[in-house]
Amino acid sequence: QAKARGRNGYRFYALSMTGEGVERLRLEAWLRRSIEKDEMFLNYQPQVEIDTGRLVGVEALVRWNHPELGLVPPVKFIPLAEDTGFIIQLGEWVLAEACRQMVRWQEAGLAVPKIAVNLSVRQFERGSIVRTVDDILRATGLEPGRLQLEVTESLIMNTGDALQYINGLHALGVSLAIDDFGTGYSSLAYLKQMPVQTLKIDRSFIKDIDEDANDEAIAIAIIQLGKSMNLSVIAEGVETDEQAAFLLRHGCNLAQGYFYSRPVMPDDLLRRWLP
Ligand code: C2E
Ligand code: MG
Ligand code: MG
Ligand code: MG
Repeated sequence: QAKARGRNGYRFYALSMTGEGVERLRLEAWLRRSIEKDEMFLNYQPQVEIDTGRLVGVEALVRWNHPELGLVPPVKFIPLAEDTGFIIQLGEWVLAEACRQMVRWQEAGLAVPKIAVNLSVRQFERGSIVRTVDDILRATGLEPGRLQLEVTESLIMNTGDALQYINGLHALGVSLAIDDFGTGYSSLAYLKQMPVQTLKIDRSFIKDIDEDANDEAIAIAIIQLGKSMNLSVIAEGVETDEQAAFLLRHGCNLAQGYFYSRPVMPDDLLRRWLP
């Protein structure tokens, strides 16, 4: 490694390795206690109908507010939570909190049509995901039809019995979305058997959609695929008016992204989206 090669290179290298190891252990220990210490919370990002600007749903995104580290982004702790198995506990907390929030909104008479929650591959490993989701729906009283679960292509392709779990979740009455669609390697034949309702076009294809002919072609292909399989298609990471217009022109009327709103706290959602 380059940083090992300077003057004092060896010592620097050894120290930094140790530093990283310690850092990771500390982070792990902190992470393990984050739920009981009430450091986790959810933000909600609107999903919008492009032509009308109507709110069609929200995606719940977890946030970790650590007293020393400050706000830690999911890219920094979700992989660690997955490595350590803590994601199972965290995933259940997220699901329960998202369902409770939906019920709170409903009790206040506010129409949030649907909430989407991300699931990690590790939550499928124990074979109890269907039971867990069912328990949380019952405990919180949320109608299953209001919940959408987001899974990735790699989760579907790499989980033995994925079809069985997806069928089980579908039977509960929840809907399923494939997140980051286009970045994995799902077999369309396999996909066809899955009772999923929504494809989420990954943000990487939306980013340069106006300049990059390949991204443009991929986005159009996903929209067409969704249409032909009777799925709804939503674009992630929409940041500009031009991107939204492009999508609408090509038959995709659903979007999520900074152009509409960043992920926000429940109160902000009320103020800005639910007059
Ligand atoms: P994701 O599920 O694909 O979520 C979308 C991510 O894109 C979010 O990042 C969101 O803030 C970000 N985003 C939305 N619109 C825009 C935009 O217009 N521009 C840009 N540049 N970014 C945008 P976030 O919240 O940092 O989450 C990152 C990833 O972490 C998520 O990707 C998801 O894979 C994972 N994650 C977040 N919350 C959870 C959770 O509760 N459970 C699990 N298993 N994973 C989660
Ligand atoms: Mg997602
Ligand atoms: Mg995504
Ligand atoms: Mg993504």
